[in-house]
Amino acid sequence: MAGRSDSLAIGIDLGTTYSCVAVWQHERVEIIVNEQGNRTTPSCVAFTDTERLIGDAAKNQAAMNPPNTVFDAKRLIGRMYGDATVQNDMRVWPFKVVEGESGKPMIVATYKGHEKKYSAEEISSMVLFKMKEVANMYLNTDVKTAVITVPAYFNDSQRLATKNAASVAGLRVLRLLNEPTAAAIAYGLYQKTGKRNALIFDLGGGTFDVSLVTIDNGRFEVKAAGGDTHLGGEDFDNRMVEYFVSEFNRKYRKDISNNSRALGRLRVASERAKRILSSTSQTSIEIDCLCDGIDFSSKITRAKFEELNMDFFNKCMEAVQMCLDDANLEKSRVNEVVLVGGSTRIPKVQNMLQDFFHGKDLCKTINPDEAVAYGAAVLAAHLSGQGSQVVQNLTLIDVIPLSLGYESLGEVMTFAIPKNTPIPATRETTSVTVCDNQSAFLFKVYQGERTRSKNNNFLGEFSLLNLPLAPRGVTQARIQFNIDADGILNVSAQEPITGQKNSITITNDKGRLTKEEIEKMLEDAERYKVDDQEYKQKVDAYNGLENFVYALKSKLKDWNIRSKVILEDLNKMEDVVEEAFKWLEVNKLAEINVIADKRKEIELICNSVFGPIM
Ligand code: AMP
Repeated sequence: MAGRSDSLAIGIDLGTTYSCVAVWQHERVEIIVNEQGNRTTPSCVAFTDTERLIGDAAKNQAAMNPPNTVFDAKRLIGRMYGDATVQNDMRVWPFKVVEGESGKPMIVATYKGHEKKYSAEEISSMVLFKMKEVANMYLNTDVKTAVITVPAYFNDSQRLATKNAASVAGLRVLRLLNEPTAAAIAYGLYQKTGKRNALIFDLGGGTFDVSLVTIDNGRFEVKAAGGDTHLGGEDFDNRMVEYFVSEFNRKYRKDISNNSRALGRLRVASERAKRILSSTSQTSIEIDCLCDGIDFSSKITRAKFEELNMDFFNKCMEAVQMCLDDANLEKSRVNEVVLVGGSTRIPKVQNMLQDFFHGKDLCKTINPDEAVAYGAAVLAAHLSGQGSQVVQNLTLIDVIPLSLGYESLGEVMTFAIPKNTPIPATRETTSVTVCDNQSAFLFKVYQGERTRSKNNNFLGEFSLLNLPLAPRGVTQARIQFNIDADGILNVSAQEPITGQKNSITITNDKGRLTKEEIEKMLEDAERYKVDDQEYKQKVDAYNGLENFVYALKSKLKDWNIRSKVILEDLNKMEDVVEEAFKWLEVNKLAEINVIADKRKEIELICNSVFGPIM
């Protein structure tokens, strides 16, 4: 068993709205169903007075407990509180987000009566933990390694944060795999029709990715990747929520934009309406007692939905064009346009894409909800030495989606590794002093395409001190940019005369988790695990006692038993049953030993009355 769990690796698609886990077994990919029998699990975590819920159980109680039901953590991961996107999202989330110590967004929720703050990594680690448990149950082993997918357009901080989340969930990441690349593997694994250019259009719940991949007999080479880490179905839902909020205001002169319960219910209804509009031209929403006893109902047409989101759809098409430009490929040379992600079911998105490619048929043969996890499972098998030749012969060449560089004089970005460079990659550049007797270099590392460094994504900084004093332009530093197969960056610099060296210590950078923070999260995760187990045992004990009392009650009605017991004892037992139900009613949160004592007490009375007849 130990050997199996060591070599068995799973593929996890950690989605904004749903996650999916798959494994390579019996020479094929198996999508693993969760305990509810569902092939995808909501990326949702809820906190209540008594327990923590993850997945379907969390989503199912969302309307009753909106401030403590957390979703969309992927939209926050690796971002700062002040980011415009974070500020924007917060307006429509029913849960609270505050600024943490290092400027990170922290989600506030009440668990067992105490207010607690959670980072996006922590919430994501809970979702990953759940996916691991789902796999453990199905495979009957303790899985420890995984390939986890991320949007191709995720930057360095977002990738690192995802890796940290996995380690808190007790998973070693074999590889972070770009989502569209995973989908390309799912699509192209068994294709044997020569070299094909496939455009993977992946529009999910929270992110949009587009990649141009060349597939040639098991060799997958990403030529260009683009997209938006903050564009997807949730944005379309938000637009609808905003639309209905203003409808409500117009009709009833009541502003519900700060009413988290009303917003939560509107969001659920809007998402449902959006899905319906993918197959009909008009639908309606109806919500009882949305606010102050007012029942709200309203209609929305597909045309209105499209108008509300047209700017988002246009953005998608611009990214497709940019991806083709980056790959230096005419659109006529694209052989396949592959749709991935739930939001590609929207007819307008399909029409616009089809028009863009001059009426080309779009490939819908792969399941848009499962393709990413499928590809991740194939790579997991490949990297852990499992699977047949088709898996072992796989060759994967992926690229970095954003350029990497550092700030030079005048806040100008000096590019060290251009975007779409195949990974892993190493590049060296040289920097010289800019003033006489300069005694230190400060390197500020950025990611992005803009000329001014401050318009790009700041990754971190480090310095080289005690330089040999010399006229400007004499002292040098050799800077090495090293990007690994996960797309994570390490930068080092060395002054050749003194040999002094320094490198960016990614984990200490602003906004990233420190080693201590990760350790604390690991401890918390362990505590949650124990809490969850204890709670389950408590619930089992409570339910066991309740079942026992019900069984007793039905026995007391059984003619066979009644005929053998004197009336006085029967009355006594009926009192015991009645009292037990009352006790159960007020002791829902009782500790396990209290429940056990109560059960013993009833059993004793039972034995004394019924003796051997029970
Ligand atoms: P994914 O991240 O790929 O699981 O995609 C989830 C997103 O797809 C969510 O925002 C869903 O609301 C959206 N979605 C799923 N089915 C449909 C549909 N039939 N029409 C429109 N959007 C959909």
